[in-house]
Amino acid sequence: MLSAMRRLAVLAIALALGVVSPSAIRAQELHPYRPGIDVLDYALTIDLPDTGTSIKGDATLTVRRTARVDTLVLDLRKLSVQRVLLDDRAHPFTRTDSTILIGLPPSRRDTGTFRVRVVYSGKVTDGLIARRDSAKRWTYFGDNWPNRARFWIPSVDHPSDKATVTWTVRAPRGRTVVANGALVETRALGTGRRARVLTRWRESKPIAPYLMVIAAAPLVKFDLGQTACGLAELRRCVPQSVYVAPEQRKVLPGAFRRSGEIVRFFASTVAPFPYEKLAHLQSATRFGGMENAGAIFYSDDLFRNRRASDEGVIAHETAHQWFGDAVTEREWPHLWLSEGFATYFAALWTQHARGDSAFRADMARIRDRVTEDTAVVRTRPVIDTVTTDLLELLNRNSYEKGAFVLHMLRTDLGDNSFFAGIRDYYIRHKHGTALTADLQSSLEKVSGRSLGGFFEQWLRRPGYPELEITWSDSALTSLSIAITQSGRYGLFEFPLRLSLVDPDGNVRRVEVGVPAQLETKIVLPVSGSVERIDADPDVELLARITVKKAGS
Ligand SMILES: [Zn+2]
Repeated sequence: MLSAMRRLAVLAIALALGVVSPSAIRAQELHPYRPGIDVLDYALTIDLPDTGTSIKGDATLTVRRTARVDTLVLDLRKLSVQRVLLDDRAHPFTRTDSTILIGLPPSRRDTGTFRVRVVYSGKVTDGLIARRDSAKRWTYFGDNWPNRARFWIPSVDHPSDKATVTWTVRAPRGRTVVANGALVETRALGTGRRARVLTRWRESKPIAPYLMVIAAAPLVKFDLGQTACGLAELRRCVPQSVYVAPEQRKVLPGAFRRSGEIVRFFASTVAPFPYEKLAHLQSATRFGGMENAGAIFYSDDLFRNRRASDEGVIAHETAHQWFGDAVTEREWPHLWLSEGFATYFAALWTQHARGDSAFRADMARIRDRVTEDTAVVRTRPVIDTVTTDLLELLNRNSYEKGAFVLHMLRTDLGDNSFFAGIRDYYIRHKHGTALTADLQSSLEKVSGRSLGGFFEQWLRRPGYPELEITWSDSALTSLSIAITQSGRYGLFEFPLRLSLVDPDGNVRRVEVGVPAQLETKIVLPVSGSVERIDADPDVELLARITVKKAGS
């Protein structure tokens, strides 16, 4: 996702999360949010009104128990529950402010699968954003991140529990309904003023509840055609389209002209596109863009201000289809596996589309966003197990620092090992969930390198190195270089690249291994005079660096 300019409302939720070591992963509970429960499928029926915010819902969840469980706890806020059925029979339940508690009879407490159906209704206050657009037409857009699915979907509302979903939406005529997955059917119901249109979409791959959405609005479709042919997991090609308010039709295709190439690039870099189709929608999301699986929602402003030309946002949200959507962070402190990847892969698109110098400019901007940050980067690690306000995790650690960490891994391991490791990580966890240790393990396996120290210093500690480089030359035969670390965020170990520039502008590159110590002294043999030293000329190190010549 990309944050919007507007102020985000604050949702607080307490999470008590531990950090696990790689060896502990296999034994770890995959569904720690509701232990023993694994939702396999959601069949969600939503009735939308002609106007206003009152909806009717009918949800059937297919649930597997992975351990003995006495009570099924579903998240659902605000709305009233009329009935609960367990395997088609009416069943008692308890309603709290935020959950539905469903006692399981002894016969259904042990492992096995059952179906629970919840019939509910009420005025939606969040999750499904019901509002009039600027032309006063009623529109409905799902906007669930991070845990707002529970405002309109009875769910196990946590990214650790992914499931397939079928959407059945009954809406007044004149609304286009788009959702995750493939379109199954569209059919007219009733006549006259009661006329409705039923639209059904089916997502056949498991996705996190924060990605389960519908759009119902007077949208018009702009077809981008079959794209990335031969690079789709479920079909031969990836059908793409853009849905906008009728009056925005004229801004299309805008930057969406390149969305076929963007999918093709990520699919050939990582793996085939994971979903049935990719729709891009003008929406009411509170974010700049939201990567809902197979149906990216962009903010309204992006189109109204004719910024539909923002290729960077399209690349970012599209990259999320692989990272975040298909491979999902199992726990919120590992959000960088989603946002850091989307940020870095958008920069990789820049490199592919506009070349190395545009890419270096992107990475320099990303580095500056990290080193200029005074709020989060200097006080908290990227894997932040302390912050409980999930919206606060949308910060420069998760996005920019996470992206730069990937860039340093790529620089250190080389393109072959790095991308092989990324592909291994993706394929192992595709349509499932992952933690940072899973990424580390894939990169270690492929590169044969031990990366424990790297992951520790860059992801589990705040800050970045602050370096002062002082150099002097003696008799045109050697160069003395002193590298001092401030130690403000501890000591770092990293490779440092230097460009030695002679008076004629000729450049010699050297790489120095800087150990985790306060001061490192190096003597380099040179022939002739050096006029200037540029540190990290290709923007490959996340650091704040000053260089000065001794005595000058
Ligand atoms: Zn994002």
